[in-house]
Amino acid sequence: MADFTHDVVIVGAGYSGLRAAQLLAGDFRVRLVEARARPGGRALLHRFGNGDEVDLGGQWAGPGQDRLYALAAAHGAAVYPLWDEGDRLVADGDRLRRYRGTIPKLPLPVLLDLHGMMSAFEGMAKTIDTLRPWAHPKAQEWDHITVAEWMARKGRTRGARAMFAVGIGAVFAAEAHEISLLHGLFYARSGGSLDRLLSVSGGAQQDRLHGGIAGLAQKMAASLPEGVPGYDEPVSRIEWSDDGVTVKTAKTAYRARRAILALPPGQALRIAFSPALPGPRDALWRRMPAGACIKCVAQYQRPFWRDQGLAGQAVAGDGVVRVAFDNTEAGKDTGLLLGFVEGDQARYWSGRDPEKRKQAVLAGFARFFGPQALEPMDYADQDWTAEEFTRGCYAALMGPGVWTSLGQHLRAPFGAVHVAGTETASEWYGYFEGALQAAERAADEARAALKG
Ligand SMILES: Cc1cc2nc3c(=O)[nH]c(=O)nc-3n(C[C@H](O)[C@H](O)[C@H](O)COP(=O)(O)OP(=O)(O)OC[C@H]3O[C@@H](n4cnc5c(N)ncnc54)[C@H](O)[C@@H]3O)c2cc1C
Repeated sequence: MADFTHDVVIVGAGYSGLRAAQLLAGDFRVRLVEARARPGGRALLHRFGNGDEVDLGGQWAGPGQDRLYALAAAHGAAVYPLWDEGDRLVADGDRLRRYRGTIPKLPLPVLLDLHGMMSAFEGMAKTIDTLRPWAHPKAQEWDHITVAEWMARKGRTRGARAMFAVGIGAVFAAEAHEISLLHGLFYARSGGSLDRLLSVSGGAQQDRLHGGIAGLAQKMAASLPEGVPGYDEPVSRIEWSDDGVTVKTAKTAYRARRAILALPPGQALRIAFSPALPGPRDALWRRMPAGACIKCVAQYQRPFWRDQGLAGQAVAGDGVVRVAFDNTEAGKDTGLLLGFVEGDQARYWSGRDPEKRKQAVLAGFARFFGPQALEPMDYADQDWTAEEFTRGCYAALMGPGVWTSLGQHLRAPFGAVHVAGTETASEWYGYFEGALQAAERAADEARAALKG
């Protein structure tokens, strides 16, 4: 039809939207519309006072994330492993214990219990079809309880339940009582296993990118033909039918044959749709809140903890910082400690005095690595719940009953609108890899519709 300005309008220039644009821009008239002044979405680069850069959004790549590694190679982004040598620490009240491997050193009954919980969880996760979690014979049973309820039934010791909860917090940036068991199992299965999601070497925290994973997003954006990406353009309204869409921003209206929404559900819901969204689509998105996380990085003259044979990795069942990593960039002299404030702690600290938050986080690092941690040369944190165009992370999650009542609508297009974003992935849901997989699927759908 003559009045179409574009074949495809893609909303959101995170990894998913950027990849969909890369896949379609060679063959079709594509516009990628981004609300922020930058590409990358949940990938964000911070520059310290000395010029060093660090990812304040997502940062890791790991085995099984083949699309992400291929993309990094295609854009010349060099990969390096996270520092993973030396002893890890687990805080047990005031006591610190050193350990090696993924499972912390704990009293034997707690360790056995934790092992039993992990094996049971992995055993159930293995049986999930990530394209159709609702079709599992036990889907109803597993979807009607939370991960916390399952932990209370399965875990016999307080210590094992507390450690399992730390793992859940680290993977979901949420509390175990917010997540349906079925969603927890699906999520773990979509990335391979819970152990893989928790691991450094051999797992989802294995590798980082020189120039940052946000730097790779910038390279993806720069690879697009001129006129494809547009920034500072929040989409406020989408008029849709089976025949086309009109995507409206304060600057203009794009009239396209297809649209791809590459947004987290909470952001998609802020757009006004006309006609109104189909009921199940709206109900599903409204029941997909995101977790909460403040990512915190302290910069030191050198990674001093390594002198004590420490890996810089630590876990605690309480406190502000429950998970810490040595985030030092390979080849740099300065040392970085990374801590995540997650779930209820993130919600508590969000909006509070930034200086107090910083001091609380540094005290959290000092609990693990000693008083030197209180004196960084620089510090940065990013509260993702406060970000207007993200509002929570690492990804949207599902509470009880959502997968089984509405899950089959997750990837379904409505009219000429296709949905992408990591929250629609069946592989690596919640991760960059999932964003890329979702982009491929949505781009294929749009391509088929345009050619049909
Ligand atoms: C602190 C943190 C740590 C993480 N760690 C990792 C990790 O180590 N490894 C990993 O694989 N994943 C990690 N993740 C998750 C990863 O960042 C996401 O899975 C991924 O970025 C999702 O990409 P996306 O394109 O689906 O969504 P997004 O990146 O959220 O992109 C959506 C885009 O839409 C834009 N937008 C929103 N509303 C509008 C609108 N109305 N109009 C136009 N544009 C709009 C947004 O500005 C954004 O650019 C982490 C995330 C966070 C926040």
